[in-house]
Amino acid sequence: MRLLEAGERFGADLPEIGLDELAGSNAIVALRAGGETEAAPILAARERIGRLVVAFSGFKDGRGFSLAAILREGGFQGELIATGDLIPDHAPMLARCGFDAAELPVGASVEDWRRALGSFSAAYQPAADHAATVWARRGAPLKAQVEALNAELRDAPASEIVQAALTRFPGRVAVLSSFGAEAAVGLHLVAEQDASVPVLFLDTDRHFIPTLDYRDQLTERLGLTDVRSLRPVEAETHDPKGDLWRSNPDACCDLRKVKPLASVRPDFDVLITGRKRIHGGTRLRLPPFELVEGQIRVNPLANWSTDEIEAYFDANTLPRHPLTQGGYRSIGCWPCTQPSSEDEDARAGRWKGLDKTECGIHMPSRWVAEEIARRAS
Ligand code: SF4
Repeated sequence: MRLLEAGERFGADLPEIGLDELAGSNAIVALRAGGETEAAPILAARERIGRLVVAFSGFKDGRGFSLAAILREGGFQGELIATGDLIPDHAPMLARCGFDAAELPVGASVEDWRRALGSFSAAYQPAADHAATVWARRGAPLKAQVEALNAELRDAPASEIVQAALTRFPGRVAVLSSFGAEAAVGLHLVAEQDASVPVLFLDTDRHFIPTLDYRDQLTERLGLTDVRSLRPVEAETHDPKGDLWRSNPDACCDLRKVKPLASVRPDFDVLITGRKRIHGGTRLRLPPFELVEGQIRVNPLANWSTDEIEAYFDANTLPRHPLTQGGYRSIGCWPCTQPSSEDEDARAGRWKGLDKTECGIHMPSRWVAEEIARRAS
């Protein structure tokens, strides 16, 4: 961001923006706005505005920052110049909000402004200056690893994908399992290579009793030595009646699944899941390796068909979840799971009647927050 000293100042000479005039004007070169100015008319005429000077009426008045950020998000390409009651502490924020230049108040020290501009070495949130955020910087090497793993193993057998996860991230891998209808396949694939890999089970307090029995049965049958039940914390506070699933299932999943899983996030760089493309919805283009908020998700069964799953069950004489006998083809919590017919997606019985298809554990936290807010509104 340029710092305009005395002699380069021009904002004060411009007329205050007139929104009516703006709508009717054909050749606008430069305008002056205040923080209270509406962004919409400016955006509507953005192609005709080469320069906009935004005046800050007081150093505590942050509206000019918001105006600039909204204009940049809305595609305003013209030059944005800040003027008025500005102090050096404003400098980094002006740059982040998309200002190209700041007119320094009379008597301001350019050195102070320069120092302030360079005072933050990292950006924590995305903004109009498109500076790489700390999160993006941290994730960059992992992203490259995930791309390389997909390029190498996209069509590899599931056992090779599991092996790659276990050998390339030793001690940092866990399996995420609901002990549902098809869970035995993925668990068997992992146990064949290492039965001591931690298996994370999100014990929502809302599972069918047969699921809990099946968990114990599979644990014994496969020789799993480290099955961990992750239970919701503060359920009594946030869901005192235990019926949050009725009013806001996204919030219920957040409380009983997303947060418990997040609590063990520092312990594992990699989670192996049982997700498959045949589940449909957001899983239709599921790759074997994904990066979800800094954690690698491995989906060794991503491209498996229903027939392959059935064949694997038979070939390895794996026990079936008892509820599959009753038409339950995807099994989660009892309030949100129903049987589904053969001509429906396997997950059609989950949250039936709602537009909800995922609990959120495989989605970015921003998606989860937006879904909770959307359903609460
Ligand atoms: S699946 Fe249903 S009961 Fe289970 S956590 Fe989500 S909303 Fe709650």
